[in-house]
Amino acid sequence: MMIIMNPGASRSQIEHVIKHIEDAHLSPHVIEGIEQTIIGAVGDTHAVPTSLFEVLPGVLTVTRISKPYKLSSRQFHPENSVFPLDGFSIGGKEIPVIAGPCSVESRSQLLEIAHAVKEAGANALRGGVFKPRTSPYVFQGLGEEGLEYLAEAREQTGLPVVVEIMAVSQVEVMEKFVDVMQIGARNMQNYNLLRAVGETRTAVLLKRGLSATLEELLMASEYILSGGNTRVMLCERGIRTFETATRNTTDINAVPVLKEMTHLPVILDPSHSTGVAGYVPSIAKSAVAAGADGIIVEVHNDPTHALSDGKQSLTPEDFAKMVRDLKRVAQAVDRDLVSSK
Ligand code: PEP
Ligand code: MN
Repeated sequence: MMIIMNPGASRSQIEHVIKHIEDAHLSPHVIEGIEQTIIGAVGDTHAVPTSLFEVLPGVLTVTRISKPYKLSSRQFHPENSVFPLDGFSIGGKEIPVIAGPCSVESRSQLLEIAHAVKEAGANALRGGVFKPRTSPYVFQGLGEEGLEYLAEAREQTGLPVVVEIMAVSQVEVMEKFVDVMQIGARNMQNYNLLRAVGETRTAVLLKRGLSATLEELLMASEYILSGGNTRVMLCERGIRTFETATRNTTDINAVPVLKEMTHLPVILDPSHSTGVAGYVPSIAKSAVAAGADGIIVEVHNDPTHALSDGKQSLTPEDFAKMVRDLKRVAQAVDRDLVSSK
């Protein structure tokens, strides 16, 4: 339910409404606009009549949000969500590029890649340390040792780091080390994990599940948003289809469709969505042309010997070329890349 306050409603009127929301066992989510404040009353609203709030002083109108996803919907928050991340913004006119290895493999590997992607124009560094591998017999990531290397890479390059979280027990250490917690495709419906990151105030990159609909992706984001963590970005990373020529099928439709459904920034991962390095630049360019708010891409200094996802990893040289091309595509659609520090 959305409670739209009169322009100029007083602080005490807003607080009075919040108190009534809590008394109805709902949770209040306040959006303070330039002219008007909107208060979301989220929870099981079926039995709650709108008149409960309509009669309160300072209330202009009360409407029910028709979609099952509430806090992520455009209806609740018509403007794009734009939030800062260490030197740049996500969700605005300028598009950040997040790049780095699939997995952190060693200190030297990570530092070499971090400097190379920074040089080529990346705005943030990615690198997994807890890896969700299909087989339990292959490299599973360096764990906390990898977080130390990421902290060093961050220190040397100034790039914020994006790292996948796999379990609730990792929240504390992740909050300490990382700028963005990635929820991987396989954990998109791990509701305990979603709730746990929703309790933090660390930004979250939520990847679409392998066979999740866009509505399911938004419902997953509700678990994070309803905990009060509003710094959520969504990521299309390819879905399972009958096609076997590529690892996954990039659902490029997801970009404009999500932009219509939600105010949250939409990022595209051309690496996992194709699985083949040679196709990555084309799909990254198509994503920017389609309106994506960011790109997250795998880059490796020695792809043939990578411990995970080498086939889809760009070399630093190919990444640098891709960034130059992305800039021109971004400008053609009246946007730009975030300039590198
Ligand atoms: C990754 O980013 O390395 C990863 C495992 O991605 P996904 O969850 O999209 O498969
Ligand atoms: Mn990977």
